[in-house]
Amino acid sequence: MIDFRSDTVTKPCKTMLQTMVEAEVGDDVYGDDPTVNQLEQFAAQRHGFEASVFVSSGTQANLLAILAHCERGDEYLCGQSAHNYRYEAGGAAVLGSVQPQPVENEPDGSLDLQKLAAYIKPDDFHFARTKLLSLENTIGGKVLSLDYLAQARAFCDQHKLQLHLDGARVYNAAVALEVDIRAIAQHFDSMTICLSKGLGAPIGSLLLGSKALISKARRLRKMLGGGMRQAGILAAAGMYALENNVERLREDHDNARYLAERLNELPGFDTSAYPVQTNLVYVDVANQVDIHKVAKDLIEQGIQITPGYQGMRLVTHLGVSHADIDRLIQALKSR
Ligand SMILES: *Cc1c(COP(=O)(O)O)cnc(C)c1O
Repeated sequence: MIDFRSDTVTKPCKTMLQTMVEAEVGDDVYGDDPTVNQLEQFAAQRHGFEASVFVSSGTQANLLAILAHCERGDEYLCGQSAHNYRYEAGGAAVLGSVQPQPVENEPDGSLDLQKLAAYIKPDDFHFARTKLLSLENTIGGKVLSLDYLAQARAFCDQHKLQLHLDGARVYNAAVALEVDIRAIAQHFDSMTICLSKGLGAPIGSLLLGSKALISKARRLRKMLGGGMRQAGILAAAGMYALENNVERLREDHDNARYLAERLNELPGFDTSAYPVQTNLVYVDVANQVDIHKVAKDLIEQGIQITPGYQGMRLVTHLGVSHADIDRLIQALKSR
């Protein structure tokens, strides 16, 4: 199967599996797992934070961050299309009594700082206390500019807010901008990274932040049932991903651009409204094309896509080659 549904479908390669098999492990809840400890220390240093904690998923990493920054009755500002607002089952509100204050995302994925300023609540007992701004990079495959990040930092300093980055795909942003990851990370009080998407690890995310924040997050992780024992086998995969699978994201971006170009040659498919910046390709599909039927037909040819409402999102990753894209285009052509 060639799978264009998401970069979460990536499977560990043989050498990654080998490092998992050979990983030294211990009970991480006791702090005894040397491989988890090594990953957490490496990640903190590599990204310019004091500390980090290895967690089961990006959703958990975001939840821990919001709950560590905010108390009950606080609120966080975020984008209307932010993953930690729309796609995380309302966790911060349900489990932390932390209220989200979403703001419409601008076409480039950013949040207008003037609009945000208007949503910050005055210090008055009628209101929730605005504590945190949460950004996402990449967001819908779009990269936030370094300039914008600097402005967001200054905005948070001015308004005494903490600044969090949902960096599930932050390495796609760094590779697209051709900057070291720290050029992005330096602006944030906390940041998450998904090791299990384009980076190719099977399971795991990181939350990065100050020592105090991460220590609070560790307590919350335990509370949520996220304390893992011999997690070194997973941390080994994460370490491998950070050491070997970052630079190759460029290939995914090149493939995504190639895919978009080829799709635009087909009648009924149009990506021109969504210039490709990283590994996500959004496609408008004409009414005459029954995209659900297309998806069914493709399965028979060994190709998986997720049909959407009058469109689709295709994702390139380490399991999709240039030749696989040609196969998809050929299959669409010969319908
Ligand atoms: C995938 C994703 C997450 C959540 O990660 P999971 O590991 O699937 O829980 C969070 N934020 C963004 C932007 C994502 O793309």
